Amino acid sequence: MNGIPTQSFDALVIGAGAAGLFYAARAGECGLRVLVIDHAAKPAEKVRISGGGRCNFTNIHTRPENFISDNPHFAKSALARFTPQDFIDRLTRHDITWHEKTLGQLFCDGRSAAIIDMLVGEMREAGGELRLGTTVGDVSRTADGFRVETSGGVVGARRLVIASGGLSIPKMGATGFAYDVARQFGHTIMDPRPALVPFVFEGRDKSDFASITGLACPVVACSERAAFEEAMLFTHRGLSGPAILQISSYWAEGEPIRIDLLAGLDAGAQLKAFKTQHPKKSFASSLEMLLPNRLVNLLAMRGDIPGIPRMADMSHAAIDSVVDGLSNWKIKPAGTEGWRTAEVTAGGVDTAGLFSSTMESRLVPGLYFIGECVDVTGWLGGYNFQWAWASAFAAAQA
Ligand SMILES: Cc1cc2nc3c(=O)[nH]c(=O)nc-3n(C[C@H](O)[C@H](O)[C@H](O)COP(=O)(O)OP(=O)(O)OC[C@H]3O[C@@H](n4cnc5c(N)ncnc54)[C@H](O)[C@@H]3O)c2cc1C
Repeated sequence: MNGIPTQSFDALVIGAGAAGLFYAARAGECGLRVLVIDHAAKPAEKVRISGGGRCNFTNIHTRPENFISDNPHFAKSALARFTPQDFIDRLTRHDITWHEKTLGQLFCDGRSAAIIDMLVGEMREAGGELRLGTTVGDVSRTADGFRVETSGGVVGARRLVIASGGLSIPKMGATGFAYDVARQFGHTIMDPRPALVPFVFEGRDKSDFASITGLACPVVACSERAAFEEAMLFTHRGLSGPAILQISSYWAEGEPIRIDLLAGLDAGAQLKAFKTQHPKKSFASSLEMLLPNRLVNLLAMRGDIPGIPRMADMSHAAIDSVVDGLSNWKIKPAGTEGWRTAEVTAGGVDTAGLFSSTMESRLVPGLYFIGECVDVTGWLGGYNFQWAWASAFAAAQA
């Protein structure tokens, strides 16, 4: 497509997701004429499906430590200037009610659609324009900004804001567009990888775990870099549940993960007391007061715990050794379910190339990257939306 831009805006936003729409409203309120373009037929589809349809829109415990990035300090500035309370205040103004589910995670009382309506409504009120079902082609620089070819014509803008997200859930329209634009303008991309994603197993581990599909238990899931005390769920392909999704964001291919199956229990003392009271019971059956019996049977079958000895035959040292084994249960995932089910993309546009206070490129004035496409990845529990709001707000104030 040739020609000079036929339409010009102060800011052109690519991506009508959480970050792009929030940016458009805030920048519009600051007096900018904003156009938002998305190739999808509907805006903010991930907001719609998030939190089981009730959008876990923030976490009241948000701190920079809840985010993974090659530069752990990068998110501090934006997070400090737009807090969870700032977003809650917006919901209050729109009569959107919410509740805390657990661990500071805030969900809508009703459907997530209320948040999408708020985002689109605020954008329109601030004078913003939204074009859906519009594809984006060549992007280039001009003397006073950017020239972007789209299926709706050539658009010129002083600012180009990339809010097209990461690679997770391709069937919802995820693309690597942000990374392509970043590379085109000389930015580095930190290897994108699926995060907040279930683990899959092969061979015996897979069939073992499949035999107790649906069983959930509280654990501490650990890697070299982090530990999460939440529920773990056995699935027909491997392991899932919040503890596993959280640790997956820190996992590297080929690494084992360590699971404390006795999280928070004084198991050694309880088993020794049980031995005194019930010396004739089997060791495996005594464990059933601590763990679900289907899991105990599986662990005995795998040889992870001794199945046969009576309590009377277990020395205190032997009990301690089994407790130690269950607190440090090591398993090696074959991989993850990948982009198909990953809730987010870890990695992305290297923060070294961006100003942390504005999300503007250090290499190309007027070019911004916000939301999930940036190498800032939140934990499970509302942190990723908080990053989308905060990074968009920072860019809009620039
Ligand atoms: C199933 C699921 C549940 C989730 N639940 C939660 C939750 O409860 N709480 C939480 O904090 N986070 C949750 N997340 C993560 C959260 O949805 C994302 O981190 C957040 O949506 C990122 O916002 P974004 O605006 O950066 O990107 P996105 O929301 O992904 O928006 C990007 C937009 O860009 C568009 N786009 C992409 N490529 C192009 C292109 N080439 N041309 C034009 N448009 C393009 C897409 O169509 C999309 O509309 C969940 C994610 C998933 C998948």
